[in-house]
Amino acid sequence: MVGLDIDGVLADFLSPFLLRLEKRIGKGPIPAESLRSVRLSAHPVLTEEAVRECADAVRRDPDFWDGLDSLLGPEHWRRLEHLSQSGQLSFITHRTGHESWDIHAVTSGWFRRHGITNPDVHLVEKEKSAVVERLGVMLFVDDNYENCQDVAEHTEARVLMPHHPYNRDFSHPGVTRVMHFNEVFAEIEHCLDLRAPTSV
Ligand SMILES: [Mg+2]
Repeated sequence: MVGLDIDGVLADFLSPFLLRLEKRIGKGPIPAESLRSVRLSAHPVLTEEAVRECADAVRRDPDFWDGLDSLLGPEHWRRLEHLSQSGQLSFITHRTGHESWDIHAVTSGWFRRHGITNPDVHLVEKEKSAVVERLGVMLFVDDNYENCQDVAEHTEARVLMPHHPYNRDFSHPGVTRVMHFNEVFAEIEHCLDLRAPTSV
């Protein structure tokens, strides 16, 4: 089983979120390269209050999530659909919505538009490692180094972290940084090969 985070791995959450923050703060563009932490903390312009307000605003806005751009190309989605159809792909996210709308339905609809006909979406409130363990995930991919560390230290899964400016300072012996999604597929194939019965 492969377990993929959504935002920062498959969906471009950051670009539209930074646009909201720019509007809220009104001090011009906030380049992604200026971010040093997944919590957007310790930043010269961003304040905790502005980040919290914008996070609250998007939680109430299904169109924000429905409109996120994909970080993958069509060929990647075709390969993920193949994996999903064979029951070997789960999406594991910390997304939280609001009682006024159904975040599971909006997220699943977004996946269907990208060609995943029956997406297995898990909305997780606490540590992802418990869900990774329960689902039997062998390969886990997340852009948030806190999740990567949790899964690396509490499960047997191999952990990949796609490179972003906000995770550039993190390193951990159990977490492998990847620069492109093609590397994720190489690892997926390697994991599935390991699982396949060997013939003599
Ligand atoms: Mg993420």
